[in-house]
Amino acid sequence: MSGIGFEILARDGMARAGRLLTAHGAIATPAFMPVGTAATVKAMTPDGVAATGAQIVLANTYHLMLRPGAERIAALGGLHCFMNWPGAILTDSGGFQVMSLAALRKLGEDGVEFRSHLDGSRHLLTPERSVAIQHLLGADITMAFDECTPFPAAREAVEASMALTLRWAERSRAAFDERPGHGIFGIVQGGVHDDLRRHAAERLVAIGFDGYAIGGLAIGEGQATTFAMVEASVPFLPTDRPRYLMGVGKPADIVGAVRRGIDMFDCVLPTRSGRTGQAFTREGTLNLRNARHADDRTPLDRLCRCPACSGFSRAYLHHLTKAREILASMLLTAHNLTYYADLMVDLRAAIAAGRLADFRLAGEAA
Ligand SMILES: [Zn+2]
Repeated sequence: MSGIGFEILARDGMARAGRLLTAHGAIATPAFMPVGTAATVKAMTPDGVAATGAQIVLANTYHLMLRPGAERIAALGGLHCFMNWPGAILTDSGGFQVMSLAALRKLGEDGVEFRSHLDGSRHLLTPERSVAIQHLLGADITMAFDECTPFPAAREAVEASMALTLRWAERSRAAFDERPGHGIFGIVQGGVHDDLRRHAAERLVAIGFDGYAIGGLAIGEGQATTFAMVEASVPFLPTDRPRYLMGVGKPADIVGAVRRGIDMFDCVLPTRSGRTGQAFTREGTLNLRNARHADDRTPLDRLCRCPACSGFSRAYLHHLTKAREILASMLLTAHNLTYYADLMVDLRAAIAAGRLADFRLAGEAA
């Protein structure tokens, strides 16, 4: 069935290091996917993204269907060609953003009717339309259309939302057009309830997907609960298929989730932080707006190979950030994505060496 290959090369406890095989190349896992919402990783050229070490990016169905339009991108040769990104692309289903961004949403069994947040135009997003849009974009990995259950929510509401997501998962799977190198992932919902997570995982596995995502987390429930929900889901997912924790997260969240068997991540944190003067380094997180950097000749991170750390001082990066120069966003985004990519390299090496238990981030307690 699988259009996407997945090889596990090493295991350490629940963690795995492997390779995801797509129509646009192999992706070493555990992998971090930079977010390219509007067919661009903000402040980065595609070459720059590739230079960080990223092999796959995420693009957003909701944004691209509204502007410039999925049919237009298809006519222009598909998303890889349109954005000049030769690597793999995962597209989200639009479910999360239609609920968080669109106006006048009306949720029903068929899908979500809404008005664009850009121009007020009317749209209907259904499982079939979401999968069709992702096909028009040319996504290597398509996500099943889901409802991201809000947090907090009453158990009955979470249960009803999860049941709807499962019915939509079945329709998304049926609508997916099998092609070599392309696959579709199902999304485990179920809020913060162990039994609902297990039920969702088991139902999705019965439908059969190329990979499995855990969604509806990192929306305010806290790290301990996020990890608990990963632990409630992973044992019921197939060991030979990739597992993706959506929207996560901080470096410590990623390390903890890799230890619990997660293979793929996406988060706006490294890119968004880069545009607000925040840098992730091997000495912890730095705020470049802080005046204590004004006379500091040292690089951001001595061990980093990125453009920001090769020749620029913390003093200069502080100046660019204070002056709101475009170069500040470019350099800090490149740095943060390089930090995340190198974190994944280090995690893969630790798994291969059977030493993940000893893995520590700067400032992380042993
Ligand atoms: Zn750097």
